[in-house]
Amino acid sequence: MRVVFAYFYSILFTSLFGTAQTSAEPDLGPQVTEIRIWEHPSYTRLVLEVTKEVKPEILLISNPYRIVLDLRQTEFLVSMARQEQVGVVKSFRFGLFKPEVSRLVIDLATPSVVARNFILTPSDEKPYRLVLDFRPASDEEFTAAAVKTRATKSAPDRTEESAPLPHKDDVDKKFTIVVDAGHGGVDPGAIGKNGFYEKTVALAAAKELKKALEKFGSYRVVLTRDTDIYLPLKQRVAIARQVAGDLFVSIHADSIKNQDIRGGHVYTLSEKASDKAAQALAEKENQSDVIAGFDLEEHPADVSSILVSLAQRETNNSSAKAANSIVDEWKTRGLTLLRKPHRQAGFAVLKAPDIPSVLVELGFLSNKEEAYMLSNASTRLPLIKALAQSLHNYIQTTEKPQK
Ligand code: ZN
Repeated sequence: MRVVFAYFYSILFTSLFGTAQTSAEPDLGPQVTEIRIWEHPSYTRLVLEVTKEVKPEILLISNPYRIVLDLRQTEFLVSMARQEQVGVVKSFRFGLFKPEVSRLVIDLATPSVVARNFILTPSDEKPYRLVLDFRPASDEEFTAAAVKTRATKSAPDRTEESAPLPHKDDVDKKFTIVVDAGHGGVDPGAIGKNGFYEKTVALAAAKELKKALEKFGSYRVVLTRDTDIYLPLKQRVAIARQVAGDLFVSIHADSIKNQDIRGGHVYTLSEKASDKAAQALAEKENQSDVIAGFDLEEHPADVSSILVSLAQRETNNSSAKAANSIVDEWKTRGLTLLRKPHRQAGFAVLKAPDIPSVLVELGFLSNKEEAYMLSNASTRLPLIKALAQSLHNYIQTTEKPQK
């Protein structure tokens, strides 16, 4: 029997990520304090230790095979690090999926169904335990179970409508920059050499960039997310359009196999990728909705075809100008850049047809020095300052387009 413990002490977690609530806060929802998995001959058992009784909503999703647990107002106080495969469970991750709903996404090594699902009440100093047994199934059985879970879902998945959208106010007065922190919630993005998550670095950098841009005094800056929450790719684009954005900047810090490679770089949209690495990164980024356990059969992500329309082509010229402006400013300031720092590929998040859009990779979390540099506000500052200045330079050369 193989047991995998994936737990952390809440104090350590709080000090690292600052997301846990303090015990003084009233009306705390359930908290997951430990997750265990082990393999039996005929099933794989997953146990969640929780401080209060929980009633999970269970979904089975195919392409790829996943089992998803939605838990209302539940906080995870365990480490999120992906672990080795145990039984039919290939890996799992969790985080905020939408306001008040945390999601646990279990990637399956083989199609499997939930054979048993029950909660044990506290006993022998053990808290509540949510127990789920997964049993391998045929593709047909999985599909039938998936259809059933979708049909019995308590409420329609209204993710796109339920997330808070910024208000559309004084739209015509100021040049609006939409800053998008990549990943978030149940989608951690890359996991750095130092254990930091891309979603955390991206959010911190996005907030700092907002501040830096606001110092110019003439811009309205809107964040697509300002908390650790998952946002579908389509919704990021929708927010940019809803607030009548004039420029969309998505912030990332990915990782690659070669750990020696480092340096910032910028992507713009193109049907044809400029190189294999850019293509691979776009494919990885476009998987965000799958990673978050989004049911693409219910919500097509519209990432398969990156057809560039005529209107888009004009926008793309502006996107390229913005990207070049970023590269120029970083060069001027002597910051580390990747070879060929402006590349193109089919990123779904850059698809707003009427808003110039760039995806900025601040650096690589797979490179040790860069991971530490990006995880710290003071060492991130030169990058943020350069980015803000370069966007300002770009905006100076454009006229605000007519709405
Ligand atoms: Zn990313």
